[in-house]
Amino acid sequence: MGRKFVFFLIICLLISGCESEPEILTEIENKDALVSINYPVTEVSALDEAISSYINKVRAEFKNSDYDGKPELNISYTYKEVNDEVINVSILTEIVTDKTVSKIKTFTYNKKSEKFLTMEDIVDDLDVLDYDIKKELLSKYQDADMDYLSNVSYDFFTMDDENLTIYFNPTQLKDTNDELVYLDIPLDSLNLLIDVDREENTNTYLNFKKNTINEEDKVVALTFDDGPSKYTKDILDILKKYDACGTFFLIGNKVSFYGEVLREMLSEGNEIGNHSYDHKYLTRLSEEGVKDEISKTQDEIKRVTGYTPTLFRPTYGGYNNTLKSYIDLTFVLWDVDSRDWSVKSTEGIMSNVFKDVKSGSIILFHDNHEYSVNALPSVIKELKKQGYKFVTVSELLELKKLWER
Ligand code: ZN
Repeated sequence: MGRKFVFFLIICLLISGCESEPEILTEIENKDALVSINYPVTEVSALDEAISSYINKVRAEFKNSDYDGKPELNISYTYKEVNDEVINVSILTEIVTDKTVSKIKTFTYNKKSEKFLTMEDIVDDLDVLDYDIKKELLSKYQDADMDYLSNVSYDFFTMDDENLTIYFNPTQLKDTNDELVYLDIPLDSLNLLIDVDREENTNTYLNFKKNTINEEDKVVALTFDDGPSKYTKDILDILKKYDACGTFFLIGNKVSFYGEVLREMLSEGNEIGNHSYDHKYLTRLSEEGVKDEISKTQDEIKRVTGYTPTLFRPTYGGYNNTLKSYIDLTFVLWDVDSRDWSVKSTEGIMSNVFKDVKSGSIILFHDNHEYSVNALPSVIKELKKQGYKFVTVSELLELKKLWER
């Protein structure tokens, strides 16, 4: 018996060892400040500790600072499994006040040797690279601090399938744009000391299943913001069990880690909409910034599921005509707010929903909280008892056209 247990445990460890998809955590806050923090939890403890202690530091510094108005903290990330052993994570912080200040921190960790890697561990001919980089920086930044430039370090770098990207200190280069300064170096031009796995794009097209609904039916659309997350699968199971459906407004940066759940989401008759890439407050961004947030999310959803969303829900519910003119998707707000993130209980969520619900309502939930999952069966059962049927937002918009004739 004891041996069987050990054997079972070893298999579990092997399986969980193979499956290294990180969990992506999102913290969103709209109180004194607008806060959107997104980062991966890899279950590689040294890496997770380094990332979370860095984020805690940034969060604390932001909260202790004395900004005017309603400042904004956006933390986004990139995540790359360079090969079976090496993970590269970057954490990008943007603080938006009357201007935007960006900074980046990167972590490269070898799970096997249990060490953080530096550029010396990645690139063989670093001397050659060093010479080329200094020449390039000097040609761009004639006023740069020469001490910084001559001793320039390569502490912060990321890798994707094409490039090694190295980040530099804009202040010391006397760059005045408050933007990140970086150089992209094609991987193919480097003598790399480690293998870099290049990903193939998987493009599976999925049919979008429609429910049969009559014009005179009493209907509601359940919508879920800020996912996908580890709770999304539970929500799908509940929707399926009660023969309901939902519309999920996804944050683009997490999409690639939940491919299977999202394909299941679509195949079970739910809908996916766009909720920006990093959950920034979009009315404060430039046209280019907004379009980047939207198109990156559209591309990710298309790449992972084969489906191209037509709906958009603005972050923090904030929009204006300028924002509308930048985004070629249907804006979807809500008329019933469960305030699940605030009341955190089934009773509270139930009372918020049933206070306002009527036929044609769009109800707002979030699929990154446990209490939303816990409340959902009660909400659905009561809606059904009151005679409501469930539609996606696109189906509801079609119905509303009929109602308005
Ligand atoms: Zn949101």
